[in-house]
Amino acid sequence: MKVLKFGGSSVGSPETIKQVIDIIRSTRANGPCAIVLSAMQGTTDSLIEAGRSAERGDDGYIEILSNIGERHVTTIRELFDGDDHFAISDFVETTVKELEDLCEGVRLIRELSPKTLDRILSFGEIVASKIIAAKLTADGIDNEWKDSRQFIRTNSSHGFATVDFVETNARVKEHFDASPVGVHIFPGFISSDSNGYTTTLGRGGSDYTAAILAAAVDAEMLEIWTDVSGMMTADPRFVRNVRQISNITYREAMELSHFGAKVIYPPTIQPVMAKGIPILVKNTFDPDHHGTLIESESTEKAQMIRGITSIDKITVLSLEGSGMVGIPGFSKRLFDALSRASINVILITQSSSEHSICVAIEDKHASDAKNAVDREFEYEIAVGRIDPLGVENGFSILALVGDNMKEHTGVSGKMFTTLGNNGINIHAIAQGSSERNISAIISSKDVRKALNTLHEEFFSDGNKQINVFIAGVGTVGSRLIDQLQSQHQHLSDELRLNVRVVGIANSKQALLAGEGIDLDNYKAELTDAPAIDIAAFTDAIIEQNLRNSVFVDVTASSEVVGVYDKLLSKSISVIACNKVAASSEYEKYSRLKDTAREFGTNFFFETNVGAGLPVINTLNDLLRSGDRVNRIEAVLSGTLNFVFNNYDGSRSFAKVVRQAQTEGYTEPDPRLDLSGTDVARKILILAREVGHRTEMSDIANTAFLPESCMAGSVEDFYAEMERKEPHFRQLLDDAHTQGLTLKYIASFNDGKAAVGLQSIGPEHNFANLSGKDNAVLFYTNRYSEQPLVIKGAGAGADVTAAGVFADIIRAAR
Ligand code: ADP
Ligand code: ASP
Ligand code: MG
Repeated sequence: MKVLKFGGSSVGSPETIKQVIDIIRSTRANGPCAIVLSAMQGTTDSLIEAGRSAERGDDGYIEILSNIGERHVTTIRELFDGDDHFAISDFVETTVKELEDLCEGVRLIRELSPKTLDRILSFGEIVASKIIAAKLTADGIDNEWKDSRQFIRTNSSHGFATVDFVETNARVKEHFDASPVGVHIFPGFISSDSNGYTTTLGRGGSDYTAAILAAAVDAEMLEIWTDVSGMMTADPRFVRNVRQISNITYREAMELSHFGAKVIYPPTIQPVMAKGIPILVKNTFDPDHHGTLIESESTEKAQMIRGITSIDKITVLSLEGSGMVGIPGFSKRLFDALSRASINVILITQSSSEHSICVAIEDKHASDAKNAVDREFEYEIAVGRIDPLGVENGFSILALVGDNMKEHTGVSGKMFTTLGNNGINIHAIAQGSSERNISAIISSKDVRKALNTLHEEFFSDGNKQINVFIAGVGTVGSRLIDQLQSQHQHLSDELRLNVRVVGIANSKQALLAGEGIDLDNYKAELTDAPAIDIAAFTDAIIEQNLRNSVFVDVTASSEVVGVYDKLLSKSISVIACNKVAASSEYEKYSRLKDTAREFGTNFFFETNVGAGLPVINTLNDLLRSGDRVNRIEAVLSGTLNFVFNNYDGSRSFAKVVRQAQTEGYTEPDPRLDLSGTDVARKILILAREVGHRTEMSDIANTAFLPESCMAGSVEDFYAEMERKEPHFRQLLDDAHTQGLTLKYIASFNDGKAAVGLQSIGPEHNFANLSGKDNAVLFYTNRYSEQPLVIKGAGAGADVTAAGVFADIIRAAR
């Protein structure tokens, strides 16, 4: 015999009921079966609402009950032909009338006892199961409807009754032994106590009814028919790309359901596990799908983690106090007090100092728990040996479950690193001694992010999603967006990264879309986007709380730099193309690096030196591998290199600078390049990365640009350069007469950094540096004779954008 249970969504409409009938018909063809049915989806919630409304003394229940009646009657009309439906329609109408009377009673006395509520709730399962029994009869399938309350005996804990298995098993067996029918129909969820009053088995309890029956008759199989194709690696409502689990052990399924996998009601597994009866979870809407088989041993390839779950609405209780240390009995008294108040403890942790015990319970028990525990420890609290019970809400429990966890080291390390890298604070941790479960208490607002990021981490054939926010859509910003768009497929195929741009801001407006911005259209959309400043953009980024968030600054604004610290402290990576942060006061630069380290995130600014060239990374690799950098020599201005390479006297110096600006090699204000300030910032950053506490004012800068060029607007600057052409010509001629060429060189030697124009001979390392190229020479302990050379294009929107892109990928990985 098989026992099949159909959930609320399976019996939620006439169409789905027809599918249920088909499944029952084909099961029946292979032998007798017992069918357990839930109420139509949403009915139990509506019945509770009706009861509560009557209790408040309003008459809202009348409409609620009439809607429930209407829904059932409509379903019946669609299911039955001709006159077949009269009897069952009458039954529904009488039932609704009875419910109205009950609720009217509640309204008059303004009290809804758990006992009355159970009575009200029983109608959902009774009506749904009667409709299905009638439909089977109408379709010629032999069946018998039986009221589960005659068989399932419980104590009188209404709402969550405990089953008396001895009595129940005897009654069930007796019934099945005596009844020859092919299909036995039972309402789920309901039972009765020894006085014959209706009790219920807890929300979702129809699964349990089916398990109780299956165990009592030694069924060959228990089938749970629902609206998903079995158990998944995480709740499909919260996590995309979940995977279906084909095989799972009873113990794993029990842990998953206990920690929130609603697909099976937790107590369901125990009775069938004791008898070794397999459970098959199947999808009513995709009956050919193999579903999930739950049995004692799993045949599926040993995976480290089987699933990830969460439970919300958790309150954390903490019992603390110096008087607890070393004195036995505190925890016993705490748990006794909670148990006397019928409060179920979900998770416990105790620090080894014995200073505190932390207990997680459901929110709804919070005030009862506070009263019970403070009463228990009244004396100790009065004499100051322990503190009044701490009660905090707004939490969820996150659990990783898998039988094979004990054979793998590092699961918890990976779990906590992943959460930490995403700025998710862990309030408490518990690991079952069976090593089948690691749970953490986190803030409820972080749950979705935590589930998704852990799912990506542990079930890694799914792509890792990176959420990118970009400030600045000038030349580099636009190129970066183009590159992200054109490389999207490649990143997904080769690196398994799904890089989504979820925020784009210019100096006035911002676009935000948690699902990703359409990059074909962002320019137009940005024009129509709401006006928000960088502070509001930052708040929105934090508010979105997306996993693996990366903020990219492709502006030159110091205002934008002001938000880095806030972002980093939320574990959001900051990628700066903007040089302001790394070249501002040493204090600020080092604080940002410290914040990134403290919050387990990244502050990268590779493109601050040499555009897309891997200068800073190479330097860091040398240092990390134990090398020592003694000297740096570099041509770090693509602009100045371009200008001096192209200035041969045939055109004015001003015209050559103008060309560099038109081709996009200069800062927005070219004086930053020409004055050597930009080069000074870069060598400053390199000196700092080497480990020197250097300020901009420590850098010797021998300027070649006449002071008068620095005044006024950019146009004034060009005009003044034109007037000062003889000065530039002189510099050129002086070099040429000695057979030398002009290069603007930055150096760092013996802790001192300097920048300035130099005339170099043909043997010099930089002599052949053409166009807008940069070159950096690192003289280190390892590279002492011949320096390590990094050379290539050091300016230009494409290479700079590519450098930013590389930083994003590095942060992502
Ligand atoms: P029924 O009404 O059939 O009893 P439930 O709503 O109680 O159905 O349970 C099925 C739902 O459980 C699914 O629709 C899904 O949203 C949810 N669920 C939560 N966690 C999981 C999981 N790990 N695997 C599958 N479903 C899950
Ligand atoms: N109808 C009940 C509930 O909604 C029982 C069940 O569906 O399993 O909780
Ligand atoms: Mg259910």
